Amino acid sequence: STSVDGVPAKVRERHAELGQDLDDHSYRYYLGSPVITDDEYDRLMLELRALEDDHPSLITPDSPTQKVGAPISNEFAAVEHLERMQSLDNAFDDEQLAAWGQRVTAEVPVEAYLCELKIDGLAVDLVYERGRLVRAATRGDGRVGEEITLNVRTIETIPVQLDESVHPAPELLEVRGEVFLPVQAFEELNARLVEEGKAAFRNPRNAAAGSLRQKDPRITATRPLRMLVHGVGAHRGATFTHQSQSYELLASWGLPVSDRTSVVNSLDEVRAYIAHYAEHRHDPAYEIDGVVVKLDDVSLQRRLGSTSRAPRWAIAYKYPPEEVTTTLLDIKVGV
Ligand code: NAD
Repeated sequence: STSVDGVPAKVRERHAELGQDLDDHSYRYYLGSPVITDDEYDRLMLELRALEDDHPSLITPDSPTQKVGAPISNEFAAVEHLERMQSLDNAFDDEQLAAWGQRVTAEVPVEAYLCELKIDGLAVDLVYERGRLVRAATRGDGRVGEEITLNVRTIETIPVQLDESVHPAPELLEVRGEVFLPVQAFEELNARLVEEGKAAFRNPRNAAAGSLRQKDPRITATRPLRMLVHGVGAHRGATFTHQSQSYELLASWGLPVSDRTSVVNSLDEVRAYIAHYAEHRHDPAYEIDGVVVKLDDVSLQRRLGSTSRAPRWAIAYKYPPEEVTTTLLDIKVGV
């Protein structure tokens, strides 16, 4: 076979095929109707990454290894995020976690790690102006998302107006978080759909995606979606030095933050948090697929910066998959 740039034609073809497949799968996934499991998707991604590691000339900005999410559909208005929304790099075992720990401590003096649950939902961006929710959008490709303000306004725990009884509302606040359907609500929704002769959802994440991306917000309103916020984007009039401190502020404004986050001082304590939730994976009312470890100090986050798709100051430790798909649900899976 002929080779270009020292890359054999076979490798080039496989690379193109994987790129195309991963793009297709991402598009379906963000619509709420994936056709392969996350584990299968991750394996295709690892294969693509391995090809690019061996042949760096294959890496282009539009490779799935370099970008976030998927292009948006034309069902909703496109909105540009004030600050880029990113994905997360993964660690699948302790060795990869330790390697991340070494990379960050080699560059900055780390004092505190913020441990959080990785909620298996969809990333949503909220913009508050002078305390008023003016816009909500999906992550999309990280730069441009889909406007879903009316749908998000039906989510009970998301304030339309920030609570100013403790701190005045900032002039501008962009917050990011995860929208999800609690497991019990998911089961009830599926039972209802089956009863009505409609297609059931394969898992809570798909149900949340399908529910949030309804054209008619009245349908979204019948789905008991929840949100937990886990990051701040653009902001004016809010100051904090640590991400954990930003959560206290967000909570004071009435935004839903998780009560399962933990600030620790060593990677061993991070490991203990990961081990705890590996054992207690079903304690939370929602599905999790791992733990997110972040540097708590915002100035260190800024120093480390990001790649084109993920911050260097955070890592997602992924738990092994546990997809419970019954044959019944396999028959009819839909939106
Ligand atoms: P991701 O889900 O692995 O991680 C990034 C996201 O985690 C963030 O955008 C954020 O929304 C979310 N998150 C949850 N809890 C968080 C917390 N506490 N702090 C910060 N972020 C938190 O990355 P992704 O880019 O959204 O998607 C990639 C993953 O999606 C793949 O690993 C794969 O498992 C799955 N996927 C599956 C298919 C499929 O066809 N089955 C297709 C595409 C993607």
